[in-house]
Amino acid sequence: MKPNVAVVGGGWAGCAAALTLAEAGVAVTLYEASRTLGGRARAVELEGQPLDNGQHILLGAYGQTLQLIERLRPAASPNGLWRLPLSLNQPPDFSLACPRLPAPLHLLAGLLGARGLGWGEKLAAARWAHALLSHADTPDQLSVSQLTRSQPEKLRTLLWHPLCVSALNTPPEIASARVFRDVIRAAFGGRTHHSDLLLPRRDLTALFPAPAAARLFELGGNVRLASRVTSLDAAADAVTLGTRDETAVYSHVILAVAPQHLPALAAQVPALEPVARRVAAYAYQPIATAYFQYDPDFRLPKPFYALADGPAQFVFDRGQSHGQPGLLAFVASAAAELPTDWMDQAAAQLQRIVRAGPPRWCKSIVEKQATYACVPGMARPAVRTAHPRIFLAGDYTAGPYPATLESATRSGVQSAGALLEQP
Ligand SMILES: Cc1cc2nc3c(=O)[nH]c(=O)nc-3n(C[C@H](O)[C@H](O)[C@H](O)COP(=O)(O)OP(=O)(O)OC[C@H]3O[C@@H](n4cnc5c(N)ncnc54)[C@H](O)[C@@H]3O)c2cc1C
Repeated sequence: MKPNVAVVGGGWAGCAAALTLAEAGVAVTLYEASRTLGGRARAVELEGQPLDNGQHILLGAYGQTLQLIERLRPAASPNGLWRLPLSLNQPPDFSLACPRLPAPLHLLAGLLGARGLGWGEKLAAARWAHALLSHADTPDQLSVSQLTRSQPEKLRTLLWHPLCVSALNTPPEIASARVFRDVIRAAFGGRTHHSDLLLPRRDLTALFPAPAAARLFELGGNVRLASRVTSLDAAADAVTLGTRDETAVYSHVILAVAPQHLPALAAQVPALEPVARRVAAYAYQPIATAYFQYDPDFRLPKPFYALADGPAQFVFDRGQSHGQPGLLAFVASAAAELPTDWMDQAAAQLQRIVRAGPPRWCKSIVEKQATYACVPGMARPAVRTAHPRIFLAGDYTAGPYPATLESATRSGVQSAGALLEQP
């Protein structure tokens, strides 16, 4: 049978997998349950505005994701990402900016020049960061709060723990120290620009999934929106998929669904039962985004700020990034205990930085299962499965990053590569 592959799930992992296969000349059909591509990083419309299901931020170290976005960008269209050297501004308590020096000197200079820390704290932070970047191992069972135990309390509260919550979407008490270390190493242990922060300039579907689907069409592939795959029947020589409307036979399948959706499909294939059981044991953490529309003349002095003493950790000015004047996005990660008045509290957090009048409207989107909890000793499955015709892709598969766009795109490309390698 000539390869004829179904990719199930049109998030960033599925789109990366389908694109990689189509570019290698393989016939591909991409199935997506919803009407929009992008999965947990997708466009939504609120109050007539193109927004996202959650404000996202990318790191300069996201090599695979950045390469895919750049490769699909039409020559004439402006860059979809706004690159900023790493800085964390949390007025009036704290600010840190990494200058353009070779890594990791830029981090060292940033820490030593940070406002809001005493000299003892700056040196403690620099020594600790150096040890984290250079020591070979971090025990698998260690949590981030155990890892940071030797650090002064102010550093833990102002720097390391907020970084953990934003990068791993998991509270430091239960977050994996090893994955945290890997993220710090990816950002600060390579090239200077790896720690840059990249803000999307357009909605998340337009940033990668939509151009990936357009390229897929050009290459003769298919995209089936609003097509949830409900059945999976795997034989030795083919795999049959079923949706509400049809069944179709493929030579191979890549399951690129979110981990919470994997067990229902994988449990239908005896060889995949162990992986279905393992992934079914994952716990999840929410992320909430609140959009506040202020007067169009209102703008933050900087494109984004870190926030303290409240439910939101960041506020982004979408007027500056997306050309949506007066629109702010507040983000609360690891938001399992979000107070009901969290949007009022977030607005009060903003008032400590800048005076804003009453908003014209505000709306929130809470993604209850935004990401899996990135805990110590997590067993993340490989992209190859025990069935030779079925592969996995998604941010939960084995890799150095936590649940991020980079994990998703890497896994998609890797899964397609593993499939193509098969005799
Ligand atoms: C609010 C929020 C904020 C975030 N912020 C950041 C950030 O700032 N930076 C960052 O790097 N990452 C961030 N993330 C994480 C990032 O969005 C995810 O890691 C990534 O999008 C996961 O992609 P994926 O393709 O692996 O899975 P998904 O995006 O979940 O894609 C799976 C797709 O499969 C589809 N599907 C499921 N079941 C079926 C079926 N049976 N048939 C057909 N289709 C099916 C789903 O509809 C979905 O589209 C955030 C996530 C959220 C929710």
